[in-house]
Amino acid sequence: MAKSPKIDDSVTSLRGVGPALSARLATLNVHSVHDLLLHLPSRYQDRTRIVPLAQAVPGQECLVTGEVIDSKIAYGRRRSWLITLADGSGFLTLRFFHFSKRQQAGLKAGMFLRCFGQVRMGPKGPELVHPEYRAFTAQPDPPEPVLTPIYPTTEGLGQARITNLMEQALGCLADWRPPDCRGMSDLSDLLDHTAFPNLADALRYLHRPPVEASAASLAEARERAALDELLASILVMKRRQRARATEQTRPLPRNQQLGRKLRDRLGFQLTGAQRRVITDVLVDLEKPRPMLRLIQGDVGSGKTVVAAFAAVRAAEHDCQTAVMAPTELLAEQHYLNFSEWLTPLGINVALHTGGASQRDRRERSNRLAAGDTLVAVGTHALFQRTERFANLALTVIDEQHRFGVHQRMTLKDKGRSPHQLIMTATPIPRTLTMALYADMDVSIIDELPPGRQPVTTTVVADTRRDEVIARVARACGQGQQAYWVCTLIEASEALDYRDVQTTHAELCERLAPQRVALLHGQMPSAEKTQIMAEFKAASIDVLVATTVIEVGVDVPNASLMVIENPERLGLAQLHQLRGRIGRGSIESHCVLLYHAPLSESAKARLNVMRASNDGFAIAEKDLELRGPGEILGTRQTGEVRYRVLDFTAHAHLIGKASEMAGVLVDDTERSDALIATWSPAEGDYSNV
Ligand code: ADP
Ligand code: MG
Repeated sequence: MAKSPKIDDSVTSLRGVGPALSARLATLNVHSVHDLLLHLPSRYQDRTRIVPLAQAVPGQECLVTGEVIDSKIAYGRRRSWLITLADGSGFLTLRFFHFSKRQQAGLKAGMFLRCFGQVRMGPKGPELVHPEYRAFTAQPDPPEPVLTPIYPTTEGLGQARITNLMEQALGCLADWRPPDCRGMSDLSDLLDHTAFPNLADALRYLHRPPVEASAASLAEARERAALDELLASILVMKRRQRARATEQTRPLPRNQQLGRKLRDRLGFQLTGAQRRVITDVLVDLEKPRPMLRLIQGDVGSGKTVVAAFAAVRAAEHDCQTAVMAPTELLAEQHYLNFSEWLTPLGINVALHTGGASQRDRRERSNRLAAGDTLVAVGTHALFQRTERFANLALTVIDEQHRFGVHQRMTLKDKGRSPHQLIMTATPIPRTLTMALYADMDVSIIDELPPGRQPVTTTVVADTRRDEVIARVARACGQGQQAYWVCTLIEASEALDYRDVQTTHAELCERLAPQRVALLHGQMPSAEKTQIMAEFKAASIDVLVATTVIEVGVDVPNASLMVIENPERLGLAQLHQLRGRIGRGSIESHCVLLYHAPLSESAKARLNVMRASNDGFAIAEKDLELRGPGEILGTRQTGEVRYRVLDFTAHAHLIGKASEMAGVLVDDTERSDALIATWSPAEGDYSNV
């Protein structure tokens, strides 16, 4: 007889798992038996209760039992097999479009059927279409006593198969006890109270809910598992933070007075918040360990200049700074700012974007490799691919959220770890910050430069487009500039939304003689640069653009923004877009020009935008409305992968977990156990 599998063995040690099946399981992040145990049901079917036929309500999943009183083929639009069941309370129709002769011949009036499926409204009343069924010659046995778990699955892997494998895995759980029970340690001394002090109990409960299980008790068991996973993930980050503390890098103490020169030449007073954050950064840079600091600040709070002070400090030591932006447009703008600020101080700034000729590019690379260029501004992709630095001491990552939360970025200077400054304008609710950036120091710029006018926002149906166009014409007539944002580049038959090209053509005509220009991500970069420069110089009045202008673009004289089909965008994105205006001293307006009908959630989003200008308040609402995956832009990239943890359901655990992790990080044995069990995804900034 084969020896029984152990908890840490590969899934291939389970009966019936060969290479094909183990490959499928791997796509579910299941490699070992214990991974399988952490693969929790996404929901449960209630097959414990037989629903009387008369009470089968459309939309509901239910288990029914009845006697077959009729079985016939109906020739309608599609041939189907109809069976009528009766149970004394009433009748219910089963409908099959696909069936065999044998299947049909096997079912006779007088037999009993037990079926499970979702009730739908049919032409003559409620029906079950293609239910699961079993036939009996007499009244069948009582139904299953417990809830049936339904597992997240993948192509070619059915519920029955997973359930069978889980049965085997649960057998191993019985032996999974301290001290071998990795990560199953009893954390009850850290938990106030829970019915599931032991993770193993919680897992057993979730995979095989007992008769008395309720939605509430299942949620509690899940919470127990989520807490473990959250702890594991925070612990990984805390460990990384500690490891960094022992890493050596070049300290950049204060020496010349270039920072003071920069301050005196800026032409504006730094806000108190900027001064505080600049101090945080400069103090970090003086230490011989690499800085990893996240700067959060609402759009327009003035983060760029903070990075400039850091770059100046590096330059004082003849060390290089790489400034990475998510788009070429933004890189370009940073280049202009940094040049304006730093060139007069004798610091060479270079732009590294794709547009240059091959010869220029080679020269540019040579200057960087020779250490002649002290501040290099570019897109992240470019640095990562091609460039060599002579003496890189600092990397600045702007608009970090656009890179994806846990994207691995590698930019190294011959093994030395540079200091890192990460900037984001996506306000992240405080609790999420604790969970996602536990390895970083965080500074918040919570003050806008003086004189900013709050943006007023109106929500207008596109039936009133003409009025909106007239309003733009008026504003431009008074010397103001406007953005007109569309969510599509080209007209689409499938999507009933305004596109940027049609809108551009229309506005050129209707706003003449105002100068209207077009900007979208698929244009050649030289052209984009040209148009941005002209808009900045006010020789363009209206910029019809896609959401490429979402990040960073800064034209203070633009005071009006129209966003078409705002219902397609999330709150974070709308807030970023709106942040392009309200940057000067003129009062600014944002018009959200929607296309009816609006879904409930779109209505809620637009109302939030109308009511608030505060990025943090908006982020909290966004978390409520859509969950964190959307806020962080990670759902699409799939970067953050938790097995059980769901920030929408488990956000209230973060404070506790963060506190617990602070204690546990000193308890190597238990931290090891937790980390080994959950093997949390390695978010990695430390290799930037
Ligand atoms: P963000 O935080 O969105 O990146 P920026 O760094 O682009 O903001 O700054 C927005 C604008 O505010 C820029 O034009 C910048 O020069 C200006 N600015 C920054 N700090 C101040 C300040 N303290 N007073 C006045 N203007 C400022
Ligand atoms: Mg910025």
